[in-house]
Amino acid sequence: MAVPKKKISKSRRDQRRAHDALTAKAFVECPNCGEAKRPHHVCPSCGHYGGREVAKISDEVRRFVRV
Ligand SMILES: [Zn+2]
Repeated sequence: MAVPKKKISKSRRDQRRAHDALTAKAFVECPNCGEAKRPHHVCPSCGHYGGREVAKISDEVRRFVRV
């Protein structure tokens, strides 16, 4: 296994981690069922997009779907 030649200083380590923060995902209300969904994505709870049903979402699937 490759072994680092020098210890990474706290400063270097923290500079690297400065870009690691997660941002909250955007959600909009589905115009069909009112469930929260990602913008520009098919609604995972009712399968609607752009005012029409584009995917059949069974009850079985609906229980496991998380955005
Ligand atoms: Zn929906």
